[in-house]
Amino acid sequence: MGLEDISAKVAAAAEAAGRTAEEVTLIAVSKVQPDARVEAVLEQGHRCFGENRVQEAQGKWPGFRERFEGVDLHLIGPLQSNKARGAMELFDAIHTVDRPKIAATIARLADELGRCPELFIQVNTGEEAQKAGCLPGEVDGFIAECRMLSLPVKGLMCIPPVEEEPSLHFALLANMAERNGLTGLSMGMSADFERAIALGATHVRVGSAIFGDRLAPQGDA
Ligand SMILES: *Cc1c(COP(=O)(O)O)cnc(C)c1O
Repeated sequence: MGLEDISAKVAAAAEAAGRTAEEVTLIAVSKVQPDARVEAVLEQGHRCFGENRVQEAQGKWPGFRERFEGVDLHLIGPLQSNKARGAMELFDAIHTVDRPKIAATIARLADELGRCPELFIQVNTGEEAQKAGCLPGEVDGFIAECRMLSLPVKGLMCIPPVEEEPSLHFALLANMAERNGLTGLSMGMSADFERAIALGATHVRVGSAIFGDRLAPQGDA
């Protein structure tokens, strides 16, 4: 485990699928990790990171960005309208656009700020009541709606149900992206990123396999 090991596994999985390592972006998910661990991965030259809370990211990334050039920051957690402005100012990509209201807010802010992060639409492929994401039956309509707002939709994202074989969900997501002409697929985490790459993932979101287990926020390193 660790960055080097996971990068090698990403490259091997890509090659096994007849793809190249460059086609897969490894997002190192640094949420809740102690700064020292994040810094160690930055020191190794990695620049692409994922956070799931806007406020937590606002507390740690401006400082890292002053010290490390070229940081590419992805929001992978839920986005509330009242945090949208902060998120759009900080993040280079947002993976969790999932409803018309947040799409409209992002469009309005994009006009105002003159820029917009790359966007992924989160799909609740398992139709789980507690999970965020647009329902599979609503995806085509929602993508069309985002396009009418001129939003830069790059692809789709999913978090499969814990109890189910993730490959079925990855294949479903890949199919929805393809029929809508979208090339980005944000899928695969520590336990299943290799299967996701085999099914076309362009962005894998890997946390614990790179950094080690997440500690409680108040825990010490
Ligand atoms: C935390 C998180 C991850 C990373 O999870 P690991 O199992 O630690 O790799 C990936 N995606 C999302 C949306 C997450 O919240």
